[in-house]
Amino acid sequence: MKYISTRGQAPALDFEQVLLTGLAPDGGLYVPETLPRWSHEQLVSWVGLSYTELAYQVVAPFVAGAIPDADLKAIIEDTYVDFRHPAIAPLVQLDHNEWLLELFQGPTLAFKDFALQMLGRLLDYVLEKRGQKVVIMGATSGDTGSAAIQGCKRCKNIDIFILHPHQRVSEVQRRQMTTVAGANIHNIAVEGNFDDCQSMVKASFGDQSFLPADRQLVAVNSINWARIMAQIVYYVYAALALGAPHRPVSFSVPTGNFGDIYAGYLAKCMGLPIDQLVVATNANDILHRVLSDNDYSRHQLKHTLSPSMDIVISSNFERLLFDCYGRDGAAIAALMKAANEGSVQIAPAAFEKARALFDSAAVDDAGTVAMIRDVWESSEYLLDPHSAIAVAAGRACRRGRDVPMVALATAHPAKFPEAVQLAGYTAEVPLPHHMADLFELEERCTVLPNDLRQVQAFMASHINA
Ligand SMILES: *Cc1c(COP(=O)(O)O)cnc(C)c1O
Repeated sequence: MKYISTRGQAPALDFEQVLLTGLAPDGGLYVPETLPRWSHEQLVSWVGLSYTELAYQVVAPFVAGAIPDADLKAIIEDTYVDFRHPAIAPLVQLDHNEWLLELFQGPTLAFKDFALQMLGRLLDYVLEKRGQKVVIMGATSGDTGSAAIQGCKRCKNIDIFILHPHQRVSEVQRRQMTTVAGANIHNIAVEGNFDDCQSMVKASFGDQSFLPADRQLVAVNSINWARIMAQIVYYVYAALALGAPHRPVSFSVPTGNFGDIYAGYLAKCMGLPIDQLVVATNANDILHRVLSDNDYSRHQLKHTLSPSMDIVISSNFERLLFDCYGRDGAAIAALMKAANEGSVQIAPAAFEKARALFDSAAVDDAGTVAMIRDVWESSEYLLDPHSAIAVAAGRACRRGRDVPMVALATAHPAKFPEAVQLAGYTAEVPLPHHMADLFELEERCTVLPNDLRQVQAFMASHINA
């Protein structure tokens, strides 16, 4: 399997190369040159497989021989060892034909564990084989950093440096990063905001000369193809459990960077009978605006009760646009250039294609809180704010009640106590058992000034030999 850039000007890569790359050199994102297709019979034969057995079936064609089958199976088995529910991605029923897919059973209590637990292991395997070591550098405002650290904590060939804005992430989120022991894990609290952190990461990727000669940076943000790939699996798992391929299933997905729902779109393209795919946003609603009104203008960032969806633009949307523009890389390059310079319109034919594929709704903080309260009162199930947005958008957009609607529950409510309290839930939401000692563990973190040179000097002197 080859991977090509959405902007058409970068060399095609194989799986191993794409794993070690972030953006393509032409500024685009890598996507598979062709997608595998699942036949009806194949899907039928997967009914009843365990999560890890299914993950192997879904992932293998994308890895395309880069990793021998037995080793890939072992990697996938190991990927989910730290998940605390035996089903890995359990379904919970909310109402008639309405379901939640709990994607927060991993070590950091958010769905990003699905992708980053697999990515860390795939990277370490490939690096070991190549006799190579790399440096992961990322900026986080919350969930990504802790999931990346957990995913890489046992990797022998990776040093990971995560920058977060000093005193601007929640205590649970900070402790989830700073209490993970490991000589290869480096937390940096930058005296600045999230944008400052992200700018430093961007600048460092642009000029990597501060690193030792035998090291390169690897990106673990959601543009990394392997993250998308790992997320396809749970759409298939949930749909098969609810009767696919004999009947269609719909999904409502709380969306920020369009990574998670893009994986659902790929599952549909590959033959999974998905009826509706609902893009659920918070007040940062560029995706809802573009899908409903072809309004792709950037608005100012709003801080909401669902911070993991607080974005101005959605990087992975480019991957969808590439398909909607008939895979015309030159057109995407021109569109993205124009979008950087101001407001643009998606070409009418491409817009109609996107609109036919997705439904969308934006849910503000008041709607989020109301949904948490509503579901708590009707079923004594406590939603986190991101999952509440998925449920609310699913209800607003669903066409009928014959097709099961699955809302993706992307985080555990204990991570976002503020929203839960606003919904009138006054008891403390306990952290799950495996994290009960989070507030006792020792923290390891270095506070640095908002200065690129000093951050890079710190990194250079802390990379393990
Ligand atoms: C990252 C995240 C999202 C958004 O996922 P995207 O792939 O960026 O669309 C939603 N909910 C939670 C809890 C997250 O951490």
